[in-house]
Amino acid sequence: MKQLTDNAQHIVIFTHMAPDGDAMGSALALKHYIKGQSAKEQNTKEIDVIVPNAFPAFFNWMPGAKDILIYEKNSDRCNTLIAKADLFICTDFNEPKRIGSMGEKMLCNQCPKILIDHHLQGAENKEENIWAEEHVDSTASSACEIVYRLLTSEGMNEITNEIATCIYTGLMTDTGNFSYNSTNAELYEIIASLIRAGVQKDEIYNAVFNQYSTDRVRLTGYALYRKMRIYPEYHLALITLSADELDRYHYQVGDTEGLVNMPLQISDVYYSVFMREERPKPGTPKPRIRISFRSQGDRPVNIWASEVFHGGGHANASGGELFGKLEQAVQLFEKSFPLYVKKS
Ligand code: 5GP
Ligand code: MN
Repeated sequence: MKQLTDNAQHIVIFTHMAPDGDAMGSALALKHYIKGQSAKEQNTKEIDVIVPNAFPAFFNWMPGAKDILIYEKNSDRCNTLIAKADLFICTDFNEPKRIGSMGEKMLCNQCPKILIDHHLQGAENKEENIWAEEHVDSTASSACEIVYRLLTSEGMNEITNEIATCIYTGLMTDTGNFSYNSTNAELYEIIASLIRAGVQKDEIYNAVFNQYSTDRVRLTGYALYRKMRIYPEYHLALITLSADELDRYHYQVGDTEGLVNMPLQISDVYYSVFMREERPKPGTPKPRIRISFRSQGDRPVNIWASEVFHGGGHANASGGELFGKLEQAVQLFEKSFPLYVKKS
């Protein structure tokens, strides 16, 4: 990475739609690191993090979050930066479509592109290699773990508090506070070094998981009490929330984060699916149904997400979408689950 960043003056770091803690943490950690390196060499580079759409307010406290550019809100400025960039870094995703219409804009600029990711690569990527450098490990807990390893391999011997805080946030959120994808002992060695660098881990937990609005907690209660369907024979749960229902609880970006995991707390539920209806955007007649899939053990859901709902992801955590009515998505779900869900 060093050679490419040394040669660049206008760097744009992208991360995926609906940014989560790992997306935010990996992008911001990279920005702080490259900025620090270039300051040492008295070379002031322009480094911007651009996200396709808004991130949840519970990440506002992250170092550098206030300077993140949101494409949906500021597309003219973002387009100028994308056209001018001489290096792109993509983190926590690997398919250009995961950054929406920015993906095409990125591909129009022929400058080098670095990929940092922990997802399996989709078919789109295998056809044509657009990356000058790839730092990909689908066994890593998070993109932040890969960023940590990359920065260490580049000789980062003193990790700043800002970088450590960003990386810790991604490790924590992508492992559900170290409850999955987190059995590797090396992960805890990384955490130890982040704590030595000054990370306040309990404060980060509080900032992310204990700052909910009353509406958010009530929406969770409503979804679990009134909107969760169980298909016992298939050990499967489905929660749906329509745009009207979300309005009733004054839905804010991030308010349903983690909801899809909750049915897995039931002893014999191994699969959980959550559908959230978004109102149609101007120019798009149909609502978008955003679908999240989770499972436990040897029960992959990514093939289901990709073949039926135009998505993909990890074996146990995937996502997809459907443009149409919520009822259509439920019908498609009910028709397809017997093909993708194991009965035992
Ligand atoms: P979530 O349910 O949290 O939105 O997504 C869970 C995981 O599924 C993400 O970390 C990502 O790996 C994957 N994912 C979500 N949506 C998509 C999609 O549209 N395409 C692909 N390839 N993966 C997705
Ligand atoms: Mn991630």
